[in-house]
Amino acid sequence: MNKKDLRVDIAIIGAGVSGLSCGYFLKKMRIDNFLILDANPKPNTSKGPGFFSREVWDNYTRAHHNHDPAKAKILWNFHSQGFSDLVEYLENQKITYRLGKRVRLLTSEHEVKEATIAVRLLKENGFESELIGNRQESQHSAGLLDASTLADSLSAAISGKIKNYNALSITTGSQVTIATEEHNIRCELCVLACDWEIAKLLPELEEAIIPISDQWNLIENLNDAAAVDPNLYSANHGYYFAVQQNQGAWALGGARFLRHLAGIGVYHYKPDERISKHLKEAFEKIASLRLGRELNSTPMIEASSCDDLPIIGPILGNSRLLLATAYNKTGLSTGFYAGHCLAELIASGRCEKLPEIFSPKRFQGF
Ligand SMILES: Cc1cc2nc3c(=O)[nH]c(=O)nc-3n(C[C@H](O)[C@H](O)[C@H](O)COP(=O)(O)OP(=O)(O)OC[C@H]3O[C@@H](n4cnc5c(N)ncnc54)[C@H](O)[C@@H]3O)c2cc1C
Repeated sequence: MNKKDLRVDIAIIGAGVSGLSCGYFLKKMRIDNFLILDANPKPNTSKGPGFFSREVWDNYTRAHHNHDPAKAKILWNFHSQGFSDLVEYLENQKITYRLGKRVRLLTSEHEVKEATIAVRLLKENGFESELIGNRQESQHSAGLLDASTLADSLSAAISGKIKNYNALSITTGSQVTIATEEHNIRCELCVLACDWEIAKLLPELEEAIIPISDQWNLIENLNDAAAVDPNLYSANHGYYFAVQQNQGAWALGGARFLRHLAGIGVYHYKPDERISKHLKEAFEKIASLRLGRELNSTPMIEASSCDDLPIIGPILGNSRLLLATAYNKTGLSTGFYAGHCLAELIASGRCEKLPEIFSPKRFQGF
């Protein structure tokens, strides 16, 4: 079949929160000649329960130890700015969201010791955190929103720019060519915002971008509490998460604790009943929740990077390709902010907000 040629200045692959945010901010910066491609007729960004957090989905101590103190601070600052950026957008667009605390439930003496160090380090670096009994709390650092409302709002602002095209391959030279089934799309710049599927288009990044499967379950709430608990809970070093979706149900997630079921490096994943059962029992114990039957279980695959840092920016040796991925469960706020940063980088050639440590250039030699 003869493919149609399409020309555009900027192509964005993926109409999830990262791609939509990039398109939204490009338009705001008066750059209009772009197209967003999505393989799905109805892109469905973050089918997760919709929490967003000012903090990284990990313990500060781990980042401090793994990446050195300066990098840990940069990482936390970036997430914090992403949170504020998203809240500003939600406020401006009058999108309903809920704000609460991020609460780590500490389940062992060892975790309490580690969290004590985390709180000290966080405070020393200018972040708010307190140890209260067997909880580590951070004020106003978590929110909950309906991800599809966010996606609809961003899509409406760039209406007509999203096309249902599946990017099959990318070739680069003096320009970028994206092959889809029916088109060859030629562009000056290409933003890859298709999460772990970036590695399918750029196989040289296969070892850097790791797909990780996880699932979350909506479980009936049997407590008679009058008000919805606004907080976002995590336990066991972030391997579990829980957030009350509404008065009738809690969303519980995290399969990674069960390492043999975790599915690191998998491309297909189904919900696993053993995980659902385990999560329910664990949360009834840890958080004293009274939970009923499972209402729904959603399997998901998301991107992680081999060094746990987000991957945002131009790739080494080819500044026509820009990546935005590997947010480790915080795509709503970090993806939103990554899209904003890339739009700024495209519009002005620089972006002070974007830390160099997230650059894909660190994977040189992979
Ligand atoms: C169990 C679980 C729960 C989670 N819960 C939350 C949560 O509550 N809050 C949160 O912030 N994050 C959560 N996450 C993480 C979140 O889902 C991701 O970080 C987020 O979706 C990344 O956004 P994105 O826009 O980069 O990619 P995506 O939202 O994955 O969007 C990528 C888009 O690219 C399209 N695409 C893929 N390949 C191609 C191609 N070849 N051509 C064209 N289009 C393509 C896809 O169709 C898709 O629409 C969770 C993850 C898991 C595993």
